[in-house]
Amino acid sequence: MSNSQNKIKKFEDEGLILTSRGLEKIRESHLNPDEIIEKAKEKNMWLLSDEFIIEYIQLKDKPVKKTKKIVAKENDSQLEIDENFDVTGKSTCEGKIEDFLDYFNQRYENTKKILLNRPTMRSAIPINILKKQSKSIDLSFVGMVSDKRESKRGFKFLDLEDPTGEIRVLISKDSRELNDLFDNILLDEVIGVEGRIHNDLFIAKTIYQPDLPINHKTNTSPEEVSAALISDIHVGSYLFLEKEFSSFIDCLKLNGNKENKDIFEKIKYVVVAGDLVDGVGIYPNQEKELSIPDIYKQYDFLASLLSEVPDHIEVILCMGNHDAVRLSEPQTRLDKDIGAPLYDLPNVHVLGNPAMISMHGVKTLVYHGASLDGIIGSLARCTYSRPEIAMVEYLKRRYLAPSYGKANIAPEKNDYLFIEEIPDIFHCGHVHTNGYMNYRGVKVINSGTFQARTSYQEEQGHMPTPGRVPVINLQSHEVSMVHFYDE
Ligand code: FE
Ligand code: ZN
Repeated sequence: MSNSQNKIKKFEDEGLILTSRGLEKIRESHLNPDEIIEKAKEKNMWLLSDEFIIEYIQLKDKPVKKTKKIVAKENDSQLEIDENFDVTGKSTCEGKIEDFLDYFNQRYENTKKILLNRPTMRSAIPINILKKQSKSIDLSFVGMVSDKRESKRGFKFLDLEDPTGEIRVLISKDSRELNDLFDNILLDEVIGVEGRIHNDLFIAKTIYQPDLPINHKTNTSPEEVSAALISDIHVGSYLFLEKEFSSFIDCLKLNGNKENKDIFEKIKYVVVAGDLVDGVGIYPNQEKELSIPDIYKQYDFLASLLSEVPDHIEVILCMGNHDAVRLSEPQTRLDKDIGAPLYDLPNVHVLGNPAMISMHGVKTLVYHGASLDGIIGSLARCTYSRPEIAMVEYLKRRYLAPSYGKANIAPEKNDYLFIEEIPDIFHCGHVHTNGYMNYRGVKVINSGTFQARTSYQEEQGHMPTPGRVPVINLQSHEVSMVHFYDE
């Protein structure tokens, strides 16, 4: 077999289709087919367009800049903070019935807009009209899941609502795919359903989650700078790994381990996804586990540690359930009074939770992830050891904290938890285990922790992964994992 036939076969074996022009381009440029195949898989592509191949060749041909200078220091910061995500001073929630109704209606309408992008959902009709339709035609509608049940005889039902009414949906036993989807449905999520009406029942043929489009184009930085992603520092806890955290800071100063110097000299941003400190009164008898029992002093100590971070690195701090702000999401940013020493640091930015930032043009959604507990508890496929899989469930639903009853949500007029804009990086913490994956072009990363295993985690059988720092290159989106704790 000739060399080019071999190449074609490789693509065929992977179920990928090439155009003859694309194949010619690959032949001319002597590209390695394995690399292209990997890239295509990463992007969930099966038809490799000419544009994709040409773009890939151009990327490969770019001369690699070899400089001896400190890259991050040479580059001005390009940090943008999306103020629309910040609820501080804008909270409208008073806990009134209307607040809840507005919240659910808004969430329904937002998600519906995404679902209606699907060709089969375009003719979706309101539930009250749906109920009056004839039996013999295919119909579709969008509803919020209010109940999910399985009867003794093994029939699976969903109760769905929209602003006009409610309807019971039967999941046919025959479709394996539909049954798998049923198992993965969370209460309160908004889905699209296609099927037929039969008396008062709707027989589902297909269920859609809003999800991410498969052809989403991600943003990359023109400069080769990186971001270190961390979370759950828990300053003030006896189990805070101060030595390990300090050696991380040393590395940022390029005083640390020489091996990792090429990684650290590119770091322009450090993003912390909440639980900056251990807090006080978070759980019963917490005081026994605190080395710093005063909340002000916990933040003071954090500020003194962060004051060592070189000025050319931007530090972005988001809130978590251990921080001294309201527990309900969206969380406001730390009070200027409590966090004064942090606000005094020129390169530190204190944000709420969630937050949307752009670093050198790369959009990053930061969310602490307190509702990961609810997702892991509800869905069989999600575990504490692979938090990135549970994080994908947020993206599929385009919503942070999808189950109202399993999260702590303040019903605000603006829905801060709705994932309208698709991020390039999605960063969570909270579960204290590190993990990452690609999902439809988005880098999904849980950063782990700088706290050693707690007795609570021991009781629960959770195995945290302390002292791991994922560093993402904002140009190539490649992730390097740096370890600061001997496991
Ligand atoms: Fe935590
Ligand atoms: Zn947490």
